[in-house]
Amino acid sequence: MLQSKLFGKTLKQAPREEVSVNAQLLCRAGFVDKLMSGVYTYLPLGLRVLNKIKTIVREEMDKIDGQEILMPALLPKENWEKTGRWTDPGKDVMFQLEGRGGKQFGLGWTHEEIVTPLVQHYVESYKDLPVAVYQIQDKFRNEPRAKSGLMRGIEFSMKDLYSFHRDEADMWAYYEKAKQAYLNVFHRCGLDARIVEASGGAFSKYSHEFQVFTEYGEDTVRHCDKCDFAQNTEICEVKLGDKCPKCGQGEVQESKAIEVGNIFPLKTKYSAAFNFKYTDETGKQQDVVMGCFGIGPSRVMGTIAEIYHDDAGIRWPMSVAPFRAHLLSLGKGDKIRAAALALHDRLIAAGVEVLFDDRDVSAGTKFNDSDLIGIPYRVVLSEKTLEKGCAEVKMREKEGVEFMKLEEIVKLLNS
Ligand code: ATP
Ligand code: MG
Repeated sequence: MLQSKLFGKTLKQAPREEVSVNAQLLCRAGFVDKLMSGVYTYLPLGLRVLNKIKTIVREEMDKIDGQEILMPALLPKENWEKTGRWTDPGKDVMFQLEGRGGKQFGLGWTHEEIVTPLVQHYVESYKDLPVAVYQIQDKFRNEPRAKSGLMRGIEFSMKDLYSFHRDEADMWAYYEKAKQAYLNVFHRCGLDARIVEASGGAFSKYSHEFQVFTEYGEDTVRHCDKCDFAQNTEICEVKLGDKCPKCGQGEVQESKAIEVGNIFPLKTKYSAAFNFKYTDETGKQQDVVMGCFGIGPSRVMGTIAEIYHDDAGIRWPMSVAPFRAHLLSLGKGDKIRAAALALHDRLIAAGVEVLFDDRDVSAGTKFNDSDLIGIPYRVVLSEKTLEKGCAEVKMREKEGVEFMKLEEIVKLLNS
């Protein structure tokens, strides 16, 4: 892709009211554009990253037999009245609106009230279970403090998977598989997520959050310094400095963290509300048992920017980077431009995603923008390097450059 044609530009300064690191960097580097507090447009660079995260999420959900669907975002009041959530917490969190003839709607902020009757429509007997469906869709929440860029949107991307089982044992077995799938997702996105016990709401003692420890986090987690014990302080049973209740060896510490995922053993809370039962082998009617599994791809993107950056800009992990290589041509001659374009075409032919900075701007501007955008490999072609059939290769995350033959560069980048 030619950068001269790329829609979106780097900015000297982030919008003044942006206080979070992720929003400042993502706006300045031309990944997102702010429409209003908590609501962003994804520009081509940003959409490439978001889509890569969504692809990773899809792959891992498909591996645990999730089947992708797409439910509406515009939802009727009646479904929410069945569970009482139209009023509580609906009045607080849900955007509620009126259509023609006084009909009441809400915008989707979660989908239990929609997915439960949907699956009920198709499940009759034990032979139809278990089943798991998921969607990746924008959710809407009337968030009170949308100041954290992509980390806390009013409109944001969510993957929500719902699983349906014959009994609790089957649900718990799936729950453990989903935990591992979640760890895979975050690991593949370059995030070290820890499983943290959190409030489970009315239906279970705990839910499990996936928390990335960082000083930029809005959550506080108390955790053992020796084993994997960790609880969100909002429900916490331990105090700082306590002996770990799990291993009895370590001491309880406290860290700031970002919640990137949350999974819930819903049990029969929603199936009971919709009278969703199945017929077992003996012909008896039994309650369907449910689990619910959420990840925020847009929050994951914000979290990656918070964690992977330095003073010069973002440093995308390869798995989610908008491009693998950023090719810069220095100097104005036709010869250098033609050689860079040929290398660009060769890389594309080899299946390498490359952004070619062919703009008529100074070398300094190209280097600064390249650091700000944060593509993992930078390849610089100048008349001096070209004389030797070489270019200069630098990794964004490392110091030091290497001179390499052009064919070696093609090999390196498509490996
Ligand atoms: P929080 O406590 O941060 O408000 P939550 O517990 O209400 O989040 P869940 O209902 O558990 O969120 O949603 C599942 C996932 O969706 C979260 O783990 C997070 O990754 C993402 N998410 C939730 N709210 C937002 C938001 N406002 N903006 C971006 N992502 C969000
Ligand atoms: Mg949560």
